[in-house]
Amino acid sequence: MIEVRDLTKVFHARGHVVRALDGVTTRVERGEVVVVIGPSGSGKSTFLRCLNGLETFDSGHVVIDGVDLADRRTDINRVRREVGMVFQQFNLFPHKTVLENVTLAQRVVRRRSREEAEAKAMALLEKVGIAIKAHEYPSRLSGGQQQRVAIARALAMDPRVMLFDEPTSALDPEMVGEVLDVMKQLAREGMTMVVVTHEMGFAREVADRVLFMDEGRILEDAPPRQFFAEPRDARARAFLGQVL
Ligand code: ADP
Ligand code: MG
Repeated sequence: MIEVRDLTKVFHARGHVVRALDGVTTRVERGEVVVVIGPSGSGKSTFLRCLNGLETFDSGHVVIDGVDLADRRTDINRVRREVGMVFQQFNLFPHKTVLENVTLAQRVVRRRSREEAEAKAMALLEKVGIAIKAHEYPSRLSGGQQQRVAIARALAMDPRVMLFDEPTSALDPEMVGEVLDVMKQLAREGMTMVVVTHEMGFAREVADRVLFMDEGRILEDAPPRQFFAEPRDARARAFLGQVL
């Protein structure tokens, strides 16, 4: 579903050069759940953003479901429709209701009728356990509820892949579980997912593979059981020592 080959991305900031991605190669099979962990600044967000065309890259290849993002002929907007993304900050439209948040892109991008978009939105709000809030504004919802709306909004586009960038990092601790539960359900249903998170319990329970990144590289790629039992890389061991 996702193939990444020798991906590099350099930022030029205040006179110096940051190699945010330094030769990343990996693949994600259909239905696989891959959890990406690593210290702050290791390139995790940049990696995810390259997978859905939010970020351009300097060299290498990203192929999503057979579509090469580096190919000039590729319609990047089409790729974005197929790849849903959920951020740490939920980014809901504050002046629109929950229902409108989940129908807007369906109508504009997928060109669905109001009826069809609303039916789909209600089904998804039901799925994430929040249909009762359909006519509220986001500010009336808790952080966990807002993040579940953001997940429903991404799913409304019928993505083939879902990317999550620290979806629970901005939440109060008591709300983390309800968002992880929705993600676990998605995983069980066979969604292809790439998840950046510090929730090691989620990684152990749900991930097919764990990638450990540092300084723009993937230093470890292993099933969670193996990764958590004995990470081979010294930096991965040090990182786990800090987060576990
Ligand atoms: P992570 O998500 O693992 O914390 P990021 O992908 O956000 O890491 O960042 C990787 C590196 O790239 C960091 O050194 C960061 O400062 C740098 N970086 C990210 N985005 C930008 C940007 N827009 N401009 C300049 N440097 C950036
Ligand atoms: Mg990040």
